[in-house]
Amino acid sequence: MRTRRLLTIIALVAIIGVFLGLATGYVYRWRAPEDKKGAPAPGGPRPGTEPAPGQPGPTGPDPNGPNRPPPGPDQPIPPQVTPGPPVPVIDQLASAAGGTGAGAASTGAAGSAKRATKSIALTFDAGWVYDTTGELLDILDREGVRATFFLRAKWVEDHPDLARAIAARGHLVGDHSFSHQDMTRLTPEAREAELTRSEAVFQSVLGRKPTLFRPPYGAYDRVLLGELNSHGYRAAVMWTIDSLDWEEPGADKVGAKVLKNARDGAIVLMHIGSHDGLKALPAIIEGLRRDGYQFVRLDAIGG
Ligand SMILES: [Zn+2]
Repeated sequence: MRTRRLLTIIALVAIIGVFLGLATGYVYRWRAPEDKKGAPAPGGPRPGTEPAPGQPGPTGPDPNGPNRPPPGPDQPIPPQVTPGPPVPVIDQLASAAGGTGAGAASTGAAGSAKRATKSIALTFDAGWVYDTTGELLDILDREGVRATFFLRAKWVEDHPDLARAIAARGHLVGDHSFSHQDMTRLTPEAREAELTRSEAVFQSVLGRKPTLFRPPYGAYDRVLLGELNSHGYRAAVMWTIDSLDWEEPGADKVGAKVLKNARDGAIVLMHIGSHDGLKALPAIIEGLRRDGYQFVRLDAIGG
């Protein structure tokens, strides 16, 4: 009789155990995509929406990331330092966000509400390649275009003169992390080290810390956005149009992709080191000007 009751209890415990196991399994699977959100769909995020969950960024001959970083732990570990509230993720210029209330209306005095032309921002990411930087800066100078550069801090450390030239020639400089790893796959300690080392490099080479951050591979999560806040960044900057110049598909294709998708407030993603991008640039600038665009830096969302 006693063994029978004991067996019943063991059976019940086993059933409950299996049930709990299944339940947590489902919860885990249901939560996982939420935790991994942050990578843009191929072709960049849709305007006004968060990037869809998926693979973190493009794979292929990215001049800024030829090799994927080794995978870290799957689940983010709670950071040691409590991050602040998440910084906003920007994928277009605020002026084109549809007049979001007081902010847009109050800029009337500054003239931006009555802009005669449309605005567009060219952005260039730097990872490893550097030898085409001078040529790129010359084209932008010749065309009278000011852009925003997101520089990998190790690139800045290796080529301080180029980084200083970019800033001196009137372009805005943002941070593209220290070593260009998928930040969402790093431990909190490693992410902290990335941000701290970046800051130190920018501070010593350019005399100031950037306030805009472009996550490598476009991969971010809420924890990273909070950490960016506590490090004084104002926004994580994505893009509206991915030129895919790093695929080197031919200058014509790069140019057509940008011109076809151009719209007021768009942020265009290009790279230092893309030869097709460099070749396409004069035609891109000319075409956008013809279509009524003026070129702006991303000052409005940080600097
Ligand atoms: Zn990059």
